[in-house]
Amino acid sequence: MNIETLGEIHEIDHNWTVIAGPCAAESEEQIVQSSRMVAKSGAQVLRAGLWKPRTDPDSWQGAGEKALEWMKEAKRQTGIAITTEANSTSTIEATLKAEFDILWVGSRNSTYFPLLDEIGKQTSEKQVPVILKRGMGSELDEWLGAADYIRRHNPNVILCERGIKGFNKCTRNTLDLQTAKLAQIESGLPVIIDVSHAAGRRDLILPMALAVKAAGFNGLMIETHPKPDLAMTDSKQQISLENFENLMDKLKTIPNQI
Ligand code: PEP
Ligand code: MN
Repeated sequence: MNIETLGEIHEIDHNWTVIAGPCAAESEEQIVQSSRMVAKSGAQVLRAGLWKPRTDPDSWQGAGEKALEWMKEAKRQTGIAITTEANSTSTIEATLKAEFDILWVGSRNSTYFPLLDEIGKQTSEKQVPVILKRGMGSELDEWLGAADYIRRHNPNVILCERGIKGFNKCTRNTLDLQTAKLAQIESGLPVIIDVSHAAGRRDLILPMALAVKAAGFNGLMIETHPKPDLAMTDSKQQISLENFENLMDKLKTIPNQI
């Protein structure tokens, strides 16, 4: 597979973008294999976390800097755009140097203003868009205020709803499409939805993804892994590459509402 053939497969729709890939970059093989299937299924962007925010400091913290090369190799082989979470001055610098196409700020860091300021400044020079995940406890004005910190330097901000803390233990988080829609209306920014971290379980990914497209959002972020049961992080919510392909086919039946 080369870049030319993938170019034909991609149906680039600037109002609707699907970002997919593993929770964490684990090996070059896992990243390249994921990128091929994600691109073939019609997604435009490959995601993978290199520096993982983990609850337990003794748990695996991600592959780190060596995975920059794996992501670059995936991009070289398939032509797909690449994105990851940057969480510090040095990781912003490293990812921009490695020519990541989009950076994202994770939910836990999304109200850390010095980081928002720094990522806004550094990405504006290269005109790299920044995805701002919603803090899991952020109200609408806090989320939009955080976006403004980045927008003061770089207007190219994409908001991402990823579920908020709720009382219900049967899902990891509670998907709050209502506030996400208000964010889209009030900010005028594109809003994408990370259904994986909202649900925390595989069986809800497909129905929620269909709902997101029907509700007129600008895209999705979905975790998918070649062997989800063996994933080193977020195993329960990652879907197989085959199920991801099926999801992308089903999404085609939902007209883009934007
Ligand atoms: C992720 O996307 O891998 C992630 C850690 O997400 P969040 O910051 O939304 O928890
Ligand atoms: Mn994850």
